[in-house]
Amino acid sequence: MPQRPQRRSFSWRQRRSFQLWFFRVLGGIYLRPSRLKALLTEWLRRTFHFALFRKFISNASGMQNPNRGFLFLIAGLLFSFITFAQTANSDADRLIHEALQPSPLETNLHHLTDEIGGRIPGTPAMQHAVQWGVQVFNAAGADSVHTEGFSIPQSWAEGATEMIATAFYEVGEAKVGGLLPIVIRVHAVSIAWAPSLAPTKHIPIVDVGEGTDADFKKAGDISGKLVLAHSVVLKTWDDLFAEYTKAPPIIDLAVKGKATAIAFIATREHDILYRHTNSGAGEIDRLPMVLVAREDGERIARLLASRHPVWADLSIPNQIGGPVKTANVIAEIRGSEKPDEFAILGAHLDSWELGTGALDNGCNAALVVDALRAIKASGLKPRRTIRFVLFSGEEEGLLGSRAYAFNHRSELDRAAGVVIYDSGTGKTTGFSVGGRKDVLPTAQSLIAPLQQFGVTQLLTTMEWGTDHFDFMLEGVPTFVAEQDEANYLENYHAVSDTYDKVDFPQLKKHVAEAAVLSFGLANLPDKIGPRLTHDQIDQTIRETHSDDLLKAFGLWDDWSSRKRGRQK
Ligand SMILES: [Zn+2]
Repeated sequence: MPQRPQRRSFSWRQRRSFQLWFFRVLGGIYLRPSRLKALLTEWLRRTFHFALFRKFISNASGMQNPNRGFLFLIAGLLFSFITFAQTANSDADRLIHEALQPSPLETNLHHLTDEIGGRIPGTPAMQHAVQWGVQVFNAAGADSVHTEGFSIPQSWAEGATEMIATAFYEVGEAKVGGLLPIVIRVHAVSIAWAPSLAPTKHIPIVDVGEGTDADFKKAGDISGKLVLAHSVVLKTWDDLFAEYTKAPPIIDLAVKGKATAIAFIATREHDILYRHTNSGAGEIDRLPMVLVAREDGERIARLLASRHPVWADLSIPNQIGGPVKTANVIAEIRGSEKPDEFAILGAHLDSWELGTGALDNGCNAALVVDALRAIKASGLKPRRTIRFVLFSGEEEGLLGSRAYAFNHRSELDRAAGVVIYDSGTGKTTGFSVGGRKDVLPTAQSLIAPLQQFGVTQLLTTMEWGTDHFDFMLEGVPTFVAEQDEANYLENYHAVSDTYDKVDFPQLKKHVAEAAVLSFGLANLPDKIGPRLTHDQIDQTIRETHSDDLLKAFGLWDDWSSRKRGRQK
């Protein structure tokens, strides 16, 4: 076969490999357009303060040989960009590489969930969890580890809650005749931080539908009765949000009508029970309350609807005590240039105790520890200190992070950002930045290396419901991981929140993300953004319509009266 004449040009493969080499040199890694854009933006921001740029231009016009001067300028800029891109990328690459290595992540979480189990502040399990935190931080190579205690107004633990519902059905005269009992051993647990109820027999049950004003009016006299409140099956984050906002008005109406107790029908099917709380700050609620299995609750409702009176024998022997001590665990990697400034990577260590708190939030407590390990193993030294914080008391109303933000208020001017993970192991899609548009360009460049994991979005929302909240109200830049729902909601606070639900390959990617973002925040030449003043935060709240959210959760008065958040 005749050979084709050789052409004196590069083959496709040669050209391709040259392109790859060029792009790698340029970007330090495979250069995706969005990554290039983000790197360019950040480099431009850092390289050119506007005045400096003008000086360059005006000098250039005065040079003897304008063409040569211009060439020097271009060469210099190209060199500067390549150096910047390579450094920024190689830091992230090293952190990602270390994070994805085999590590004690799985073993640490096994100890925390299977051995220690559910962790309510004030219980021996929570004390063990705090010791676990100290041990694993030390083993991960922390420069220092300590605990900071705070107290919760009242302790609470569930006893052996019991509920039996009874009704009667009439058997036709042709058969046996008379009334036969229907007995339902209701699957029920107490609502957390609800008061106890001494064993009480024969409480009439009354259906109050969705629990609106109109529903309560329709139900008539509820005094001395057990109020049965309906719910919808939990499918979305919005459903969960609705479950939290719906409860307080129902409690108000039940208290007003002198009901004995409330039975909330569970939002999960298949007899799944979970721990819910309506008390916002670790105080005991106003009325005894239980959560009943969806199947039992709906059956009782159908019996009531078909004109069968139903009664409950109910006993809620909760153990309630006075103030209780608990602690946050804090580890540090000391900053090399500005050790007094600090970024925080945090997750809550406490959990409810029906399950073992694996998705909420043991997996992310283990993530925080493993991110410290990965940063240490990379050999990189951040300019600022990174504080790795495992908060306690989150489930009782963000009490640990609230105490931390309050106790460290005087040094929050030096805070370079707070990163929080608290949504199980569904894929991270981005971060919510607490309503702050000013941090977007730099944040975009910090998360650019995480695009390979699908982390692309920055949301200018202000969120409630996890440990960034009090830092956000103190004006500190905050970053809450936005995650796919995955299996989070069905297991949320439930008996089924156990180790086997954790997606470890995904969790390891989150370790990489958390390490890159917290290191990035700690290592920026200038902090990502200033601490906002009270007025600026207030403006951000109004711009993002978060005042409605704060009002819905009863937090607005605390903010506007400066009981909570930035003082000046
Ligand atoms: Zn949580």
